Amino acid sequence: MSVIAANLQAVHQRIAAAAQQAGRQPQDIALLAVSKTVSPHRIRAACQAGQAAFGENYVQEGVDKITALGDLRGQLHWHFIGPLQSNKTRLVAEHFDWVHAIDRLKIAERLSAQRPAGMAPLQVCIQVNISGEASKSGVAPSEVPALARAVAALPGLRLRGLMAIPEPEDDPAAQRRPFAAMRALLGALREDGLDVDTLSMGMSGDMEAAIAEGATMVRIGTAIFGTRA
Ligand SMILES: *Cc1c(COP(=O)(O)O)cnc(C)c1O
Repeated sequence: MSVIAANLQAVHQRIAAAAQQAGRQPQDIALLAVSKTVSPHRIRAACQAGQAAFGENYVQEGVDKITALGDLRGQLHWHFIGPLQSNKTRLVAEHFDWVHAIDRLKIAERLSAQRPAGMAPLQVCIQVNISGEASKSGVAPSEVPALARAVAALPGLRLRGLMAIPEPEDDPAAQRRPFAAMRALLGALREDGLDVDTLSMGMSGDMEAAIAEGATMVRIGTAIFGTRA
């Protein structure tokens, strides 16, 4: 078995163990393989090992890989998970299936307007600055309901839920706190009548805590592809 296949298997085992611990079904937690800096060749190996969803952080790098792996386009789901500037929205709207880091209405409006008519709506999450750090992107929790309502109304997009990158913590109890706050925020949107189902949260170092608090999609890079250069 290739290293990537073995790593994927180990990650699936971690997801299954965390799900069981939380009384959840492993199939309710999707695995997004974060492939920033990973070559198309190694992405293909992950695909051959059964992985279909990949996350990219940089627009041009992502588009280059989607193009290089064009023969697999029908099998793969490409997620844009990095910060997005307004001059790059068109490429993302034309090439990706998902965007995780919507942090202002202007970006969402551009993506909606630029989504080609023949493609399914772009699936999107709003990024929440859940740890309240001044430097990190994402909207403040108090701004989420209004932005969510506005994004949900855009015709080229389908609002799926919320995403966060909390401040790194070693202590499992400390890791769970921001994830619990995310779960509450998603619940409030559902009570508001929005049809949202996705909590994109949890990375290689904190996926168990995220799953314990209701993550439906974990974004895993290092544990699958190894340490990035
Ligand atoms: C790089 C990255 C990840 C993956 O992080 P790992 O610690 O390598 O698992 C997840 N989400 C985002 C937004 C990232 O930029």
